[in-house]
Amino acid sequence: MSRPTKIIIDLAAIRANCQLAQSLAPHSKTLAVVKADAYGHGAGQVAQAIEPLVDMLTVTCLEEALDLRQAGISKPVLLLEGFFTVDEVDLALANDCELVLHTQRQVIEILSMTFSQPIRVWLKVDTGMHRLGISAEFAHSVYSMLNDSPNISQIILMSHFSCADELKNGFTRLQYQSFTECLELIEYHAGVNKNCIVTSFANSAAICGWPDYHLDWIRPGLMLYGISPFDTPHTQGDKLLPAMTFSSEVIAVRHIEAGDSVGYGNTWTASKPSVIATVAVGYGDGYPRNIKSGAPIIVNGQRATLVGRVSMDLICVDVTGISDVAIGADVELWGKNLSVNEVAKWADTIGYELVTRMPSRVKPSYINE
Ligand SMILES: *Cc1c(COP(=O)(O)O)cnc(C)c1O
Repeated sequence: MSRPTKIIIDLAAIRANCQLAQSLAPHSKTLAVVKADAYGHGAGQVAQAIEPLVDMLTVTCLEEALDLRQAGISKPVLLLEGFFTVDEVDLALANDCELVLHTQRQVIEILSMTFSQPIRVWLKVDTGMHRLGISAEFAHSVYSMLNDSPNISQIILMSHFSCADELKNGFTRLQYQSFTECLELIEYHAGVNKNCIVTSFANSAAICGWPDYHLDWIRPGLMLYGISPFDTPHTQGDKLLPAMTFSSEVIAVRHIEAGDSVGYGNTWTASKPSVIATVAVGYGDGYPRNIKSGAPIIVNGQRATLVGRVSMDLICVDVTGISDVAIGADVELWGKNLSVNEVAKWADTIGYELVTRMPSRVKPSYINE
């Protein structure tokens, strides 16, 4: 096991990021988002590290929740898409999972079932993203149906922002306005004091950038992993500590002449005599194949640039002018010294995607447990 390609996950960084989220929203409870294998960081390990800090964890589906139970997680787990088929509901409840209800159909199915005790549900309202949720204008009638049912002990009203990462975009305010109108309609039609309705709206971008919209439960995802939700500098975003470090080593070094090309397809050609380091990492390890020549890479603690196409197991880096580059030199693809968001821009994507789609080829190792 000597190939030098490594993924290291710093669990202390994740705990610190979680505490930052909580310090920004001191009056809110925390629902830590560990879906998609904790954005590629390992759901079991991440959940174990933050379980003592948070009130609940959340994943996309029952399978992911059962993985958390396998890992010994005992706090309640919210399923962000509720159930896909009714036969999942009993198993979900038996495993202390709570359900998001985002369609009228799910609501009707829940109301027609029989439970040993009433359950708490999370009613999702569509306030403008138009992806999941009951339309804001009808939500009060669905709320009333749930409120009148002996099956339901509590209803938490939730919604999701589509543009909270754009701090000048007024749509976030419109979504919040739609949500408050929904609360007023519930008060008017269902006779429930709107100040007594428990609410949840904020993802990482809203936690960091929209302090008025934290409400009762925050839902931090990306920020837990130390990735800023913003693509420009931001006071809170810049305090986050990157949890994943993706690294490898130089395994060959060569000098090439002006006019020589590098890699498959000869897509990059040296304009002057250059030093090229070959690094043991490629798209088979999760480094994006579509990334452009010129993307930053840290070699020996200094910024160098990717040249040529990414191969399955290898990349080439222009290290001309970088001191002491020899076989065995340390390479950071992203991590503490280079943000995954910056790398993602060179691959026309976002940090979320790069960390979430890491293949299982390189097993992460965990520090600061
Ligand atoms: C994924 C998700 C979140 C977390 O979003 P981040 O941008 O990663 O903080 C919150 N709420 C819902 C409904 C989600 O699907």
